[in-house]
Amino acid sequence: MSGKPTKYIFIAGGVTSSLGKGIIAASLGKLLQARGLKVSILKLDPYINVDPGTLNPYEHGEVYVTADGAETDLDLGHYERFLNIQTSAKNNFTTGKVYQTVISRERKGDYLGKTVQVIPHITDEIKKRIRSLESDGYDVIIVEIGGTVGDMESLPYIEAVRQMTWELGKENSVTILLTLIPYLSAAGELKTKPTQHSVKFLMQSGVQPDILVCRTERPLSNEIKEKIALFTNVKPDRVIEALDVASIYEVPLKMKEEGLDRAVLSQLKLSGQSAEPDLTQWNDFLRKLKSATKEVRITLVGKYIELRDAYKSISEALLHASVYNNLKLNLQWVSSENLNDENIKEVLSGSDGILIAPGFGSRGIEGKIKALQYARENKLPLLGICFGMQLSVIEFARNVLGWKTANSTEIDPATDYPVIDLLPEQLKKSMMGGTMRLGQKEISLKKNTKISAAYQKDVIRERHRHRYFFNEKYKEEFEKAGMIVSATDTEQGLTEAFELKDHPWFVTVQFHPEYQSTVDAPHPLFMEFIKRSKEN
Ligand code: GLN
Repeated sequence: MSGKPTKYIFIAGGVTSSLGKGIIAASLGKLLQARGLKVSILKLDPYINVDPGTLNPYEHGEVYVTADGAETDLDLGHYERFLNIQTSAKNNFTTGKVYQTVISRERKGDYLGKTVQVIPHITDEIKKRIRSLESDGYDVIIVEIGGTVGDMESLPYIEAVRQMTWELGKENSVTILLTLIPYLSAAGELKTKPTQHSVKFLMQSGVQPDILVCRTERPLSNEIKEKIALFTNVKPDRVIEALDVASIYEVPLKMKEEGLDRAVLSQLKLSGQSAEPDLTQWNDFLRKLKSATKEVRITLVGKYIELRDAYKSISEALLHASVYNNLKLNLQWVSSENLNDENIKEVLSGSDGILIAPGFGSRGIEGKIKALQYARENKLPLLGICFGMQLSVIEFARNVLGWKTANSTEIDPATDYPVIDLLPEQLKKSMMGGTMRLGQKEISLKKNTKISAAYQKDVIRERHRHRYFFNEKYKEEFEKAGMIVSATDTEQGLTEAFELKDHPWFVTVQFHPEYQSTVDAPHPLFMEFIKRSKEN
């Protein structure tokens, strides 16, 4: 530790959800990190679920899994991709988790004789969890508060922020409110009233924002900034414009142009190691992103296609790998429920490569199986992830080995050919929350395989999230017929990957490579998938 106190940046959102708080937090983190500061980011979620692991992707988007096996908010994926750091279970908590801790402490008798209340017990637990990262020696910790100010459920978090900013003082904490300045085309005007009201809401809770970041479709004139300043007690130069941009990866540059990092540093009396953020590699990435002309056409087959946030890490990993292969990603999103014998050729024949997404349950699996068969038979490059791997096993069993009724016991518990079965360790588990095989495991790769060529390594570490796995008693028959096991977990010997011998590039994996791709370090498996797709 440097001995200097850790400084805090709180980011709340006003007016509406979906303004991209996570991207603003990650962008600010990037700018501070690029000046040599040690930064971490936390996300606080105001819902009652203990974690998002039990939520449907329609409700919440992707569940992001950290290396230490926490099921977390997808914003942690942005933090890792932007900052090229590893987050952990400490970087995300929910109201459910906070209450669970306080209530179990109450049952133990830790508060004996006292009435347990939102203030101070819940707020103390929130503060304790925020400060639990301090011991790792960060210069700056960014705290993103989920939800929108004015929501009833965010109140304990806003109160914790009020207390912390009071305790820490102005030089050690900054509060940023992200708001929206809508443009009303009928009036031909940008409107500041929703922002004024959001700031008032925050002030009613005793929190004065120091900086406003205003999402807008049109540039904010000085006049508008001054008007916002007048109503909100925020200096006009701390009313920061966040104009819509084409790629999320341009946001750090936009925020730098608008002086967000400088405003934060000046309040915190911090300078970092360099006068300007070093964004050399970031800028290289953006240059490549914008200049690529040759296209690679990838089709993502999944069942939550209407909600692209459900596959956030996958689509970002595909983008990173395309950029580093100097290609422009043309991503086609296909709902597996809509794939059938009549349209499969038409839908997939234009693709350079196919990705079969993870998933749970029976909806849409037959379409995924058809896509796997199409890629196998037509020698199209394919990457299957988690359920995508399990379904590749089922497809091969049914159509090559001739076991027509082969299935996963997740789908058909009575199948004659349980090629995918429940992990033995799962038999003992009766609770659904947080009980899957989760997090990073060590995996050894078989030599002279496509997967080892991609990683250029014998041993890798990848993250997991599943209950079912390949039933090893069928291994010999699969390998004899040309589908080989190319990776195994070093601790338990579980099958981690398959590939087809007689195919240009058909690789399916039990783990989730997408969680580890970042802007600075694209993932080797995605790199190879994109490269082989283009070559094919
Ligand atoms: N449903 C499968 C399992 O639980 C696959 C999970 C996934 O794709 N993440 O094993």
